[in-house]
Amino acid sequence: MAKIGFIGLGNMGGPMAINLVKAGHAVTVFDLSDTAIATLVSAGASAASTAVEAVKGAEYVISMLPAGKHVESLYLTGDQPLFDHLAEGTLVIDSSTIDAQTAKRVGGIAAGRGISFMDAPVSGGVGGAVAGTLSFMVGASDQQFSQAKPILEVMGKNIFHAGVQGSGQIAKACNNMLLAILMTGTSEALNMGVDNGLDPKVLSEIMRLSSGGNWALEVYNPYPGVMPNAPASNGYQGGFQVDLMSKDLGLAMALSEQSNSATPMGTTARDLYKTHGEKGNGSLDFSSIIQGYQK
Ligand code: NAD
Repeated sequence: MAKIGFIGLGNMGGPMAINLVKAGHAVTVFDLSDTAIATLVSAGASAASTAVEAVKGAEYVISMLPAGKHVESLYLTGDQPLFDHLAEGTLVIDSSTIDAQTAKRVGGIAAGRGISFMDAPVSGGVGGAVAGTLSFMVGASDQQFSQAKPILEVMGKNIFHAGVQGSGQIAKACNNMLLAILMTGTSEALNMGVDNGLDPKVLSEIMRLSSGGNWALEVYNPYPGVMPNAPASNGYQGGFQVDLMSKDLGLAMALSEQSNSATPMGTTARDLYKTHGEKGNGSLDFSSIIQGYQK
């Protein structure tokens, strides 16, 4: 049983922390939302009234925050920066999806102060967080990765060591850029087939089992009625929001600029999602991008 401080109990962090409690770990939690803390306390966690209190005596600290500025503020620049309060030997695991540069900078400052910090963003959505089947993409040293793995395995099914600090965020940006390209491409092909008289179910099955087959056609078809359990068949509710996909594409574009990498497909996908969100669809599932193609 490990002593864990968990900060950020939103849609993802809440169920991740619950899985740690269920596995028998001693979890002390903090969030800006009292309701989020209360949910965790009823699941068996201990409540802290500040982030500093949550990490007191912790062997592991896990954060699951919205963006880079929140992570930087929590550990470095806020009123009570956690890097001033961590016990020696604590391993900090930041699972927020943030820009790789911030992850590297915070990680570098941590290392300079003898603090162990790694980036470990996730894929798998809220469903994966609840089921404990997330994929973790870890940027860390070999030693940090081995130390974190048993804890990450409680919350996830696939634990990948992407490389040194910052690599987890780079892998996450690459994956989600590809996901956006696949979803827009699948939507484009399906819409063209239907415009030309094909049944979306028949066309989906043909492409799924032919050379156009991909994850969207396998498990997440964007056309309503093709897959009963996909968000498309439920008014695009639940799933992965357009606003979050736009955020991730912004991170991917920043990364491509920094490395001067050509990303024409990613740029187009980013533009399509931006326009779709601006039309008031930000809270719909990201497969709703097909609506932008429909007449
Ligand atoms: P969320 O907005 O539901 O939760 C964020 C939580 O952080 C909130 O409860 C908020 O009160 C808390 N918070 C913010 N600043 C804080 C601070 N200084 N101290 C304590 N608590 C603070 O977001 P989420 O959906 O849980 O996503 C968290 C991260 O996971 C994001 O980086 C997101 O991109 C990433 N992610 C989300 C999904 C998804 O499907 N939702 C999937 C993969 C990755």
